[in-house]
Amino acid sequence: MDLFEYQGKQYFARFGIAVSPGDVADTVDEAVAVAERIGYPVVVKAQVKVGGRGKAGGVKLAHDVDEVRLHAGNILGLDIKGHVVRRLWIERSSDIAKEYYASFTLDRPNKTHLGMLSAQGGVEIEVVAEENPDAIAFLSIDPVRGLDLATARRWVNEAELDEVAREQAAELLVKLYDCYTTGDCDLAEINPLILTPQGTVHALDAKVTLDENATFRHPEWQEYEDDSDIDPREKMAKEKGLNYIGLSGSVGIIANGAGLAMSTLDVVTQAGGEAANFLDIGGGANADVMAAALEVINADPAVRSIFVNIFGGITRVDEVANGIIEAMRRVKLSSPVIMRLDGTNAAEGRALLTDHLSDRLIAEPTMLDAARHAVALAKA
Ligand code: GDP
Ligand code: MN
Repeated sequence: MDLFEYQGKQYFARFGIAVSPGDVADTVDEAVAVAERIGYPVVVKAQVKVGGRGKAGGVKLAHDVDEVRLHAGNILGLDIKGHVVRRLWIERSSDIAKEYYASFTLDRPNKTHLGMLSAQGGVEIEVVAEENPDAIAFLSIDPVRGLDLATARRWVNEAELDEVAREQAAELLVKLYDCYTTGDCDLAEINPLILTPQGTVHALDAKVTLDENATFRHPEWQEYEDDSDIDPREKMAKEKGLNYIGLSGSVGIIANGAGLAMSTLDVVTQAGGEAANFLDIGGGANADVMAAALEVINADPAVRSIFVNIFGGITRVDEVANGIIEAMRRVKLSSPVIMRLDGTNAAEGRALLTDHLSDRLIAEPTMLDAARHAVALAKA
């Protein structure tokens, strides 16, 4: 889960990393109020989850109330690479002597953490990596040993940060590493990390990606859940605990197992149709899960038919059949259901369904037959 810059800075602050004082604003008037409170000059910054805001006109310096009005008015509603600005971050402007780059991320092939540090920050790090790779000091960090201050000191020397910045930067990097690990980030990046003419070092930008596998450890992350960008179908599925991804087609899909769900997408495409979703109901295909799955798919207005593709393994098909019968009692469906039932106790499962079959609940003998039927009904 990506955070907005202001959330990233608030996250940094919890770990003692220095950031500029500031506040959020959703309107021009709020922007003015924040600026008046923190004092001029201020920087007006677009809050969108995409980089390169500066170049796109989403970061502006304002020296007085008129300039805040002007820039806040221009930036709110601005489209930056497909992201419309709805919120601003107003912070006290910093004087910049030097711009550095610092980040931690996971080095998967190496099974370590990877620190990147450069005295050439402010610009995109990809550009530095391409044009001047020696300007980046890479540090491999054993996750068990972590990053100590002595190592961080060697690292800032190697990156050739300005002498006056080195000790502060080393201390900040240890805190950033703590934020990255204790804070369960996939990425913690500061670009630019600045040295001011007064000789202090602090974070001027924040890019934080949280590792959603650690959500159970962080009830406080709830505030970061941003509904505005989320597909409403996915939101509904998430609330029901389903493994669902929305797609753009008209054939709704329910399968047990991620592999089978992927194959189901393929076979629907092969039959000339397009899937409306990916949905893996896993092993527990009981009536509750099936009803929840059918409800989510039924709520998608683009869906014209629903393909239920079950291959019983540990899950018995007769249990699934009972689940389908019960679920169809509970959910009033606007599309027909086409089933393919195979695997453990398939015969028993099909027998249970015989009396329930109609033009709204159809059984097909194979996966391809079922896909073709579902596609035909979706196109009818
Ligand atoms: P990004 O373009 O999305 O990465 O946004 P940043 O937060 O990194 O800001 C872009 C650039 O604006 C920075 O690299 C700085 O050069 C400049 N900038 C941001 N904040 C300040 C500030 O407080 N004072 C000054 N002088 N420049 C700033
Ligand atoms: Mn930046």
